[in-house]
Amino acid sequence: RKSEAFNFQQLFEEILAFLYPNIVDVNADIQCRIDPLCELTGYRDEIKQVFINIISNALDALQRKSGSKMIEIEVLQTNGMTRVSISNNGVGIPPDLLEVIFEPFFTTKELGTGIGLYVCKEIIERHAGTISCESSEESTTFTMQFSTAEQRK
Ligand code: ADP
Ligand code: MG
Repeated sequence: RKSEAFNFQQLFEEILAFLYPNIVDVNADIQCRIDPLCELTGYRDEIKQVFINIISNALDALQRKSGSKMIEIEVLQTNGMTRVSISNNGVGIPPDLLEVIFEPFFTTKELGTGIGLYVCKEIIERHAGTISCESSEESTTFTMQFSTAEQRK
């Protein structure tokens, strides 16, 4: 376990290769807009797990839907911050549940554990970052922000 500087574009290539069988299974259309220069200093394996969890949840949400199935991944650098957003269309999260999705063991899935988002938040916060979620009836977006100046060394 070591902290290192790593590139987001390469990280997402690995993640999408790893999730490829699930993506094919769900028949999801993935769109990426990743600034090739975006980097983060931290525990790469942990951050990788965060994005795998978020994209897996998006795939779960799309699995239960008919029609177009889209996941959009965006990584941008804006004034001292790196912002990663992962959106999917599909039945969203009702406003009253948005407050509890990060709590341990909250799940709406028959075979869910409810620890995915809890662990994501833990990891992001240990990297001095933030995670938030916005959802409507048509889409759900998870946004993670990291300060480029204040990264864990
Ligand atoms: P699990 O996946 O085991 O249910 P998580 O902590 O990963 O646990 O997610 C908690 C809950 O948040 C899910 O059960 C689901 O209700 C909701 N959720 C998370 N991501 C999405 C999403 N992209 N679309 C709709 N609901 C979501
Ligand atoms: Mg999950």
